[in-house]
Amino acid sequence: MLQAVDVGERSLSSYEGVAPSAILEELRQTAAGLRGARVLHVNATPYGGGVSELLRSTVPLLNDLGILSDWKIIGGDSAFFDVTKKIHNGLQGADLELTTAEKSRYEATAQTNSLDLTEEYDIVFIHDPQPAAILPFHGTGNARWVWRCHIDTGQPNPQIWQYCRSFLGDYDAAIFTMAEFVPPDFPVRRLEIMPPAIDPLSPKNMPIADSMARQILDWIGVRLNRPLITQVSRFDSWKDPMGVIAAYKLVREQVPNLQLALVGSMALDDPEGWSIYREVERASASDPLIHVFTNLTGVGNIEVNAFQRLSDVAVQKSIREGFGLVVSESLWKGTPVVAGRAGGIPLQMSDGVGGVLVDDIEGCATAILGLLRDPERRRELGELGRQRVREHFLLPRLLLNELSLVRELLQGRPAAPVGAGEHRDPVCGMAVADLRTVVVGSHEGADYFFCSELCRSRFLMEPERYLQRRS
Ligand code: UDP
Repeated sequence: MLQAVDVGERSLSSYEGVAPSAILEELRQTAAGLRGARVLHVNATPYGGGVSELLRSTVPLLNDLGILSDWKIIGGDSAFFDVTKKIHNGLQGADLELTTAEKSRYEATAQTNSLDLTEEYDIVFIHDPQPAAILPFHGTGNARWVWRCHIDTGQPNPQIWQYCRSFLGDYDAAIFTMAEFVPPDFPVRRLEIMPPAIDPLSPKNMPIADSMARQILDWIGVRLNRPLITQVSRFDSWKDPMGVIAAYKLVREQVPNLQLALVGSMALDDPEGWSIYREVERASASDPLIHVFTNLTGVGNIEVNAFQRLSDVAVQKSIREGFGLVVSESLWKGTPVVAGRAGGIPLQMSDGVGGVLVDDIEGCATAILGLLRDPERRRELGELGRQRVREHFLLPRLLLNELSLVRELLQGRPAAPVGAGEHRDPVCGMAVADLRTVVVGSHEGADYFFCSELCRSRFLMEPERYLQRRS
């Protein structure tokens, strides 16, 4: 079986008064027609980067809405993730080639993962290129398959795109963050555009008092007795951390006590992180006012929350970007952003809302300096940015978009409810008739069959949940 990620429980009612109520209401109505549907999300890493951030919040909320949802991670060794990072870079336009051995590694791992996908679902969301080739090896089965692309594939390296394209033909639908990201000659007929969103109630984004945020930063060695600018990103050359350092150095000529924090996480599927991290460390070693932190040294969600809340300016100097959740995260805290005009960033900051879009190091330095010198403008931009995020980029809106697609994909299909005595596991959906060992459990006088003790105990803890039928 693919490795499942344990996400705990969440309740949509907690978003009352936080997200727009019209969206919450529509979301509830849409979900009501889908109760009992089984949804799987598959990606490459349980931590680090925007996709894991999204799934950690999405999956428990889907469960709260009565949609039986799992999040699973593909397996792969470091050679596989070297290849997938090359594919990721190639799809974002980098000039590179895959060798025959690299392609074989990618396909062999996809095949292994496809064999590990044994449970049955109604809808399978495959996130990004790493797991994309599972489908041709696995076959659609009874599910509808959706490829969710989070990166900017608008101008891909043609060879890498042709290679990836060959795995996508059987998908029922594909989702991109922006229409501009759809690559040429895209083989999936049904296309949806859905920008990602942030979870306003996650530890990273929930309200915390400035005094507490101050203590958190103080504890990790960042004093707020001088101005602070921060970039929070994976150590990835597309996020241009070296450009941030160069811009910071230009600003420091005018603001000598300015400090810079570079907060970067390492992701399981991102083997380049360490080399970029070392490059950043070398470039900042001689400057005590540049702080470099990673999730591996204990700078996690709550620290990121404090940085995004208390920085004078948040920087996101991306050169290529899928969406850039960090932009909405900072705006949600009322902090203005200076960001590269790349990918989904202008979507979040259009018309000057929330901050300043820049095109190069000099422009970045000028924008940071201008904001540092104008606290009132910082406050105004931050407030406008927060309103924009509330209207467009909070999680319930994304869930609504996704469930509307799920509803359409499932329309016209039998609901496939599980009844007593059927030879299908009501928890994982697996056909049990052909299994050598079948576990039987009774509920209200009727027998149900399970593939494992685990499924039986999950069922017996909440039988109603698994017996719900889609209307
Ligand atoms: N992030 C984090 N700690 C870090 C760096 C990044 O928690 O040290 C989070 C960040 O807050 C955001 C996500 O990782 O939620 C990055 O998502 P984004 O869309 O900005 O970029 P991606 O990494 O997906 O390219």
